[in-house]
Amino acid sequence: MTRPFRVTVQPGAASFEVQPEESVLDAALRQGVPLAHECTFGGCGTCRVALLEGQVRYDEWPLALSDGEAAAGFALMCQARACSDLVIDAEPRPAGAAEPVHTRAVVRAVTPVTDSVIHLELELPDLPALQYVPGQHLNILLGDGVHRSFSMASAPAGHRVDLHVRRIPGGHFTDGVLPQLQPGAVLEVELPLGRFHCRTQDYRPLLMVATGTGIAPIKSMLEALLDDPDCPPVWLYWGMRDERDLYLDELLRSWQGRLYEFSYVPVLSRAGSGWTGRRGHVQQAVLEDLPDLSEHGIYLCGSPAMIAEAKQAFVQHGADPRHLHADGFSFQQADHTSVAIA
Ligand SMILES: Cc1cc2nc3c(=O)[nH]c(=O)nc-3n(C[C@H](O)[C@H](O)[C@H](O)COP(=O)(O)OP(=O)(O)OC[C@H]3O[C@@H](n4cnc5c(N)ncnc54)[C@H](O)[C@@H]3O)c2cc1C
Repeated sequence: MTRPFRVTVQPGAASFEVQPEESVLDAALRQGVPLAHECTFGGCGTCRVALLEGQVRYDEWPLALSDGEAAAGFALMCQARACSDLVIDAEPRPAGAAEPVHTRAVVRAVTPVTDSVIHLELELPDLPALQYVPGQHLNILLGDGVHRSFSMASAPAGHRVDLHVRRIPGGHFTDGVLPQLQPGAVLEVELPLGRFHCRTQDYRPLLMVATGTGIAPIKSMLEALLDDPDCPPVWLYWGMRDERDLYLDELLRSWQGRLYEFSYVPVLSRAGSGWTGRRGHVQQAVLEDLPDLSEHGIYLCGSPAMIAEAKQAFVQHGADPRHLHADGFSFQQADHTSVAIA
């Protein structure tokens, strides 16, 4: 029988055993070591850690891990199988983020902002103050261990939280439950979750790239930087299909002058003939404008496919995987098997 390997987690000294055939994340959770994670099928990247010692393998290469990240020593815990004892550096909860809690959320408004995006406003009356870091997400708990993840779209302010929810045709929550919700309805949520947040302390120019509702956590991060004299230069690229999808266009344009050296570039993949702005894929537009990405702190959010392509291309253009952060909007599935990511 093969012996288990030992995994040591830094910072701190937590350690646990992992069998060669199980994922490192499964082993950690089984033994009460709370590694950050979300989708558990390699789509979102929440469980990325730095591998300080040892080797891992993957049965199938996870979409949310680029070759460049693996070469720079990163690994995805939900898919990695240990090939030796491991020492991993699991990024701690962002400074200023509270310990996750379960609480009631009262629906205040459900407002369609495009054919496929709903602005959901929630109030959390039972928490003394909402302490999350812009970029983090919450889980809406639907019972029987089922949940759906959504990023906070606003900077922390009182007891209110904004979500931007893309309707997935046939989706249990976004197409079934959400359109029926009325003001006053009560949901159960868990928050704040995740490690996606802006590292302004790196003093790097910020490059933010979003597709679709991936703009939500980026809006939250940028709102927190408005009128900040220490704000670094900010490039924001937002990829959408056509003009009708740009539900935050006016707001984002209005931030000119309130964010330092702010460049906002909407990029449409299926624009009408009247569109005079950028066309194509958002990651291509970035590279046309910024061929050298070696100095940037890069934040990618939205479609897992965009993120995978952007990571590969950006590292080839000098991006440092240690300064490349991503939140893939993959989906949650009860059995976590055979998931195709659009
Ligand atoms: C950390 C994190 C943060 C997120 N934040 C947001 C956010 O702020 N706004 C937002 O709109 N979404 C966000 N998502 C994605 C969102 O969680 C899913 O779209 C949502 O769970 C779908 O729930 P559903 O019950 O409607 O669909 P389900 O019933 O779970 O799914 C039905 C089927 O639809 C397809 N599907 C579902 N979701 C997606 C998707 N996102 N992309 C492609 N196909 C899909 C799959 O085939 C799936 O099997 C986030 C995801 C993660 C992991």
